[in-house]
Amino acid sequence: MRISDIGEFGLIDRIDKGCVNDPSAVAQGIGDDAAVLTVSPGRKLLVCSDMLVEDVHFIRGVAPWTHVGYKAVAVNLSDIAAMGGEPKNCVVSIALPPWATVDSVDGIYEGMKHLLAKHGVNLVGGDTVESSLFAIDVTMLGEADEEEIKYRNGARPGDVIMVTGDLGASAAGLHLLKSELDRKAWNADSIPGIEEPVGPKDHRTAVLRAHFLPVPRMKESWILARLGTGLVTAMIDVSDGLASEVGHICDESGTGAWIDSTRVPISESCRAVAGEARVDPLKWALFGGEDYELLFTVSRGCVGDVEEAFEAVGLSKVTAIGEVTEASLGRWIVMPDGERMELAPGGYAHFTEGSR
Ligand code: ADP
Ligand code: MG
Repeated sequence: MRISDIGEFGLIDRIDKGCVNDPSAVAQGIGDDAAVLTVSPGRKLLVCSDMLVEDVHFIRGVAPWTHVGYKAVAVNLSDIAAMGGEPKNCVVSIALPPWATVDSVDGIYEGMKHLLAKHGVNLVGGDTVESSLFAIDVTMLGEADEEEIKYRNGARPGDVIMVTGDLGASAAGLHLLKSELDRKAWNADSIPGIEEPVGPKDHRTAVLRAHFLPVPRMKESWILARLGTGLVTAMIDVSDGLASEVGHICDESGTGAWIDSTRVPISESCRAVAGEARVDPLKWALFGGEDYELLFTVSRGCVGDVEEAFEAVGLSKVTAIGEVTEASLGRWIVMPDGERMELAPGGYAHFTEGSR
């Protein structure tokens, strides 16, 4: 069905269904000039926005529309998680080229609503425009108690650097995707569904899932925000790769840092795909990005508290990977052979090629 068959307002009527997951926060959702939201007294409002643009962030026909919608929401949820906040409401604006169909928009909103429902977040408005390129812009609103907000600037020398989950799998998925597209072997139907479980040895599905359907670390964030004031000193989510994010924490905190490369968590699936591609998986973990894990610093001596808190609620793994230092000591990664390499966002030139 073409969008002109139902018109902009017909489209908005379709979008409007299933948008409110927590009615207590919404006095007026879609349908007026502005949404009217209830704000919890005494809490701070968090706002972030991330946009996905065709040919920059996704290629038409490669990922199912549901997955494009899912990821547009996931990356915004991850930003709220990185602040230690709770996501509450969002607005979504879409730019639609002439080829866009009602099916494509339905798919995008299905993927978005799936993830929004999972986290009890409302979709309360947006905008719809015609354009030559497809784009989706999500603005997420969240809230947090002031003392629980985690900034990038709180790291102090001596703090331990920790990260949730594994790194590099999203870059491994992107590598597979690109190489299969190059060989004209890509089959969009072979991408895992949003709810599809991954078999233990199905490395291809595991890394594609990491790339297309990243899991924002909301529960982990919630636990970290409540560990007690001052325990987690700084936090960021891994959208551009570990090297870049460690750099952001150092820049904002005025510190240096070192990372032990042997402790950087890398999944078996990422290693398997890297092995076949003859790439050092550490390169993907450091410079790949889009893992959406949480990178944070904790006061020395509190690593056990974090591990226990995660274990107590059965959360995914969390690993201590390095230490914050004085700024004058710089930013380093200690390689497996004991050699030190400067940790700079463009440092991947040091790694053996084979994939590029
Ligand atoms: P206005 O002209 O006052 O900006 P619109 O006609 O653009 O209002 O939108 C009407 C209603 O539909 C508003 O509540 C708006 O937030 C909502 N809306 C428009 N486009 C979208 C969209 N893509 N997703 C969700 N809500 C939308
Ligand atoms: Mg108006």
